[in-house]
Amino acid sequence: MSEVLIVGSVALDTVETPFGRVGRALGGAATYAATAASFFTGVRMVGVVGEDFPEEHLDFLRSRGVDLRGLERVPGKTFHWSGRYVGDLSQAETLATDLNVFADFNPTLPEAYRDTEYVFLANIDPELQRNVLRQVRAPRWTACDTMNFWIAGKRAALLELLEQVHLVLLNDAEARQLTGESDLGRAAQQILQGGPQAVVIKKGAHGAALYTEQPGESFPRWFSVPSYPVPVVRDPTGAGDSFAGGLMGYLAATEDLSEPNLRRAVVYGSVLASFNIEDFSLNRQRTLTREEIEERYEGFRRITAF
Ligand code: AMP
Repeated sequence: MSEVLIVGSVALDTVETPFGRVGRALGGAATYAATAASFFTGVRMVGVVGEDFPEEHLDFLRSRGVDLRGLERVPGKTFHWSGRYVGDLSQAETLATDLNVFADFNPTLPEAYRDTEYVFLANIDPELQRNVLRQVRAPRWTACDTMNFWIAGKRAALLELLEQVHLVLLNDAEARQLTGESDLGRAAQQILQGGPQAVVIKKGAHGAALYTEQPGESFPRWFSVPSYPVPVVRDPTGAGDSFAGGLMGYLAATEDLSEPNLRRAVVYGSVLASFNIEDFSLNRQRTLTREEIEERYEGFRRITAF
């Protein structure tokens, strides 16, 4: 059983969907990922918050066993993101991104974190993601996320980062933007040629696909899972980060990087994402149990068996 290091945004989110609205609720990519991973293994979190960040949010993360030695509290306000979802909830319309203390985020890892073998670099400037990687002594499995903003604005740094990570997670639009390929299989193939051993392409309500390079095979091996049919999708914020956290937590817990185990990790990622979208912020995770996770994992077997 290994631990996971998670680096990224810790936020207060204002979110509106057809099912309601929350103001300055707990959010941030690192928060979602760390919480998801905490259902499988120990998590070390790196991020920054301001003076306004409520102590109760730290208590929640501590209650999940998340190590917060790498979470700095500095003068100023916490990163605030505001977004709205309409229609099929497939895409957020960003209303505001107030970087605040996140603008100067350039993490220095606590000494105790530098031996972590499993690392998830949530969506931040790819130069910062590389900086973090440099501070980890001997990573066994590193994964990164990114977004359209960095693909367009920091392409060279992002491509260098991709040479150094084992897994990249991105959504379908980002995969197309990064490669110029409309076909996702070809996009994945091109990304794999740039360095990583595995690519996960997330397709929102249409599920996710894992592509891995296999010795002697000319096309990447492909594994596809649907999304889990939850009764009501109230707020999709953090689905991708919950997916990544669940996947990384399971990999670190099992320390098995074989292709069959990567498939299982993708299903666990899908399970965590499916719980996350049932409620706003991290509210569903507050009552979630490992038993419910296992039940839904078996549910995935049922909906994909034929
Ligand atoms: P997701 O829905 O998985 O894309 O993640 C949404 C989370 O990412 C929210 O909780 C936001 O606080 C956070 N977020 C939004 N924009 C950014 C950004 N530019 N950089 C880092 N985190 C962000």
